[in-house]
Amino acid sequence: ESVPADVPEAARERAAALAEEIRAHQFAYYVRDTPTVSDAEYDALLQELQRLEAEHPALVTPDSPTQQVGGTFSTEFTPVDHLQRLLSLDNVFSPEELAEWDARVRAEAGDDIRYLCELKIDGLAVNLLYVDGRLERAATRGDGRTGEDITLNVRTIDTVPTALSGSDAAAGVPVPHRVEVRGEVFFPVEAFTRLNAELTEAGRSPFANPRNAAAGSLRQKDPRVTARRPLDMRVHGLGLLDGWTVQSQSEAYDVLRAWGLPTADTYRVVDTLAEVQEFVDFYAEHRHDVAHEIDGVVVKVDQTALQRRLGATSRAPRWATAYKYPPEEVRTRLLDIQVNV
Ligand code: NAD
Repeated sequence: ESVPADVPEAARERAAALAEEIRAHQFAYYVRDTPTVSDAEYDALLQELQRLEAEHPALVTPDSPTQQVGGTFSTEFTPVDHLQRLLSLDNVFSPEELAEWDARVRAEAGDDIRYLCELKIDGLAVNLLYVDGRLERAATRGDGRTGEDITLNVRTIDTVPTALSGSDAAAGVPVPHRVEVRGEVFFPVEAFTRLNAELTEAGRSPFANPRNAAAGSLRQKDPRVTARRPLDMRVHGLGLLDGWTVQSQSEAYDVLRAWGLPTADTYRVVDTLAEVQEFVDFYAEHRHDVAHEIDGVVVKVDQTALQRRLGATSRAPRWATAYKYPPEEVRTRLLDIQVNV
């Protein structure tokens, strides 16, 4: 460890302590599906570390939690390497931060930008690998490179096709030999409320929130348990395309829908920052009018050529950002609950 001496001892120690605490929370959240702090508290720790690193750039190492995709994987599942990395998302929290992000994007990619606005589903990311149109493997995001094999569990989700309808005339696009499709698996809110009532009645401990219910239900050794849970999924990204070329994210969604994959019906493609903000404001108000929990809106540059030009950091694409809504969690309840897996 060669941290230059110009970083004050106190800052160095604080950064190390923060990184250790953040990793412990990541383990509880991603591996045990049992968060020990609220998301807001977790985010505050990460932001403190970011601030510290911004003040003392010598503290930034490749293995800092600020530079990595946060997840990890459990040895209870077979590890699988994704063919293409799954990244996380950077965040903005206010109209001002959104405008700054928009300005950076335009400076780099020009003014000919369209934005695809979609809901940020509070579930867990899953990578689906289709080989010759058949669902060959499903995996959790893990650390972005390696995830957990949950193929049998994902096969129990009704809306995830085990075979794609590739010769569909409507799509006009044949399914490539191999294709990776990313999406969010979630537990519908109504079903979540029912499940927790049942668990409580049976004297068992309820889940902390729908996100943990989804993760806990999907990451089961016995897929029959998963099969009893009404999980659902929406597609929101692509990995390996193997020769399939798409001009835009929205065009990709049209094709994925025609192949039989569950795309969202709430996204919108817009031209201006004002329209993005309108979408953000609309769903801030109608946050509870959708079937799943949302923790914000994801804004993506629609054109894939511009996505490529903007590129990505080690943990997130530069062509997308998550506009996060204020948290709604109640801390005391979360800490009381022994989460049920
Ligand atoms: P993130 O959840 O903020 O954003 C990235 C993820 O958003 C993607 O991986 C994808 O799965 C998901 N997503 C949902 N809808 C999407 C869409 N339409 N398009 C693209 N992606 C979409 O980042 P993260 O790194 O996965 O996790 C951070 C989150 O997890 C924070 O909210 C944090 O508070 C929480 N967390 C909490 C704890 C804790 O201890 N409470 C620990 C770790 C992480």
